[in-house]
Amino acid sequence: MDTLLRIVGAVAILLLLNVETSISDKETKTDPRWEKYYKKIENAVKNYKECIQEDCSCHAEVIEEDLAVWKKAGGILKEKFDAAKERGTHYQIINHKLYREDDCMFQFRCSGVEHFVLELIKKLPDMEFILNTRDYPQSPKYWDPLPVFSFSKTKEQYDIMYPAWTFWEGGPFISVYPKGIGRWDLMREVIPEKAEQWPWEKKKNLGYFIGSRTSDERDPLILLSRKRPDLVDAQYTKNQAWKSDKDTLHMPPAQEVKLEDHCPYKYLFNFRGVAASFRLKHLFLCDSVVFHVGDEWLEFFYPAMKPWVHYIPVKQDLSDVQELLEFAQANDDVVREIAKRGRQFIWDHLRMEDVKCYWEKLLKQYAKLLKFKPKRNKNYKQIKPTAERDEL
Ligand code: UDP
Repeated sequence: MDTLLRIVGAVAILLLLNVETSISDKETKTDPRWEKYYKKIENAVKNYKECIQEDCSCHAEVIEEDLAVWKKAGGILKEKFDAAKERGTHYQIINHKLYREDDCMFQFRCSGVEHFVLELIKKLPDMEFILNTRDYPQSPKYWDPLPVFSFSKTKEQYDIMYPAWTFWEGGPFISVYPKGIGRWDLMREVIPEKAEQWPWEKKKNLGYFIGSRTSDERDPLILLSRKRPDLVDAQYTKNQAWKSDKDTLHMPPAQEVKLEDHCPYKYLFNFRGVAASFRLKHLFLCDSVVFHVGDEWLEFFYPAMKPWVHYIPVKQDLSDVQELLEFAQANDDVVREIAKRGRQFIWDHLRMEDVKCYWEKLLKQYAKLLKFKPKRNKNYKQIKPTAERDEL
């Protein structure tokens, strides 16, 4: 009888707990704070048109926009081109051969770009271009436009965006990637493999960021992580500019972590650094939800990705970050769908073929705008594919 009473009591407690859980579930689901986010998602998804995986056309508008200023000007005059020379490395394509001035500020960045140009060289007309390998764009809109190629910019610059060197090689170089972050084709294999070991159900319901203080816009997240470790794990690592703990917000620097080891977390943060950060594309491959902070800094593939469809947008000053993390924790199934859509987009539309295709379209359209006939500079050496160079 005593045992029976105990069993009945235990069942009653379990039933009570169950009722309480479903009530609290319901309360969470119907929390009025989330209504605005449901609406944003619904509208964004309704208005989003999936682009076709053909001719890298998802990104075509970016080329049009970047070249519009030159179309409007009737083309790129020789004087304009010459004025841009001090902003980067001068390349020439003549008779399907690539030539370059000796000086390249970052040799591996130049090689990372040359890889793609050389793959296309047989299809390219004669042309010249100026390649900025610095992080920061070079043609601010408060001056006359200069025809210069940069990997990243905001709406405040005229620079013509190109797919960054890092799709192939050129870094950044950090302790966990001593040969530099690169080979996007390999990253597309390695990160999804790790993601498989961290299916959604196994991931931690936490935000995650690991990186250096290339912009103090990251500070509020690091501080939130110290105050609310139940919401986010965010830490600063050292970079080359690190001098003391002051540069890691008065805490010792954290160890660097490989991109595939971001996968145990559900909510992965991307921030601008000096310009756009290369981390963004990798984060999607973890099958986690990307929290993308700010919308100013772009790479060529960003405009095709839409807030609330592919990622959760966070205000640049992070004033909404706490609420967004709470929203994600309380709406697991909703944010999981965003993670899936983001991942699918990167998988389908940021393949190596897409990068190559973007380079081809960009260079062909750009070449049509040149108002002068490229004339080979005899001081420039021919750039050959690495394999051919190694054979020599
Ligand atoms: N990174 C990484 N693991 C780390 C820190 C950084 O993989 O622990 C990567 C990061 O994703 C980015 C690059 O290294 O692609 C440089 O990161 P950092 O935060 O220094 O600068 P960012 O380029 O993001 O401004």
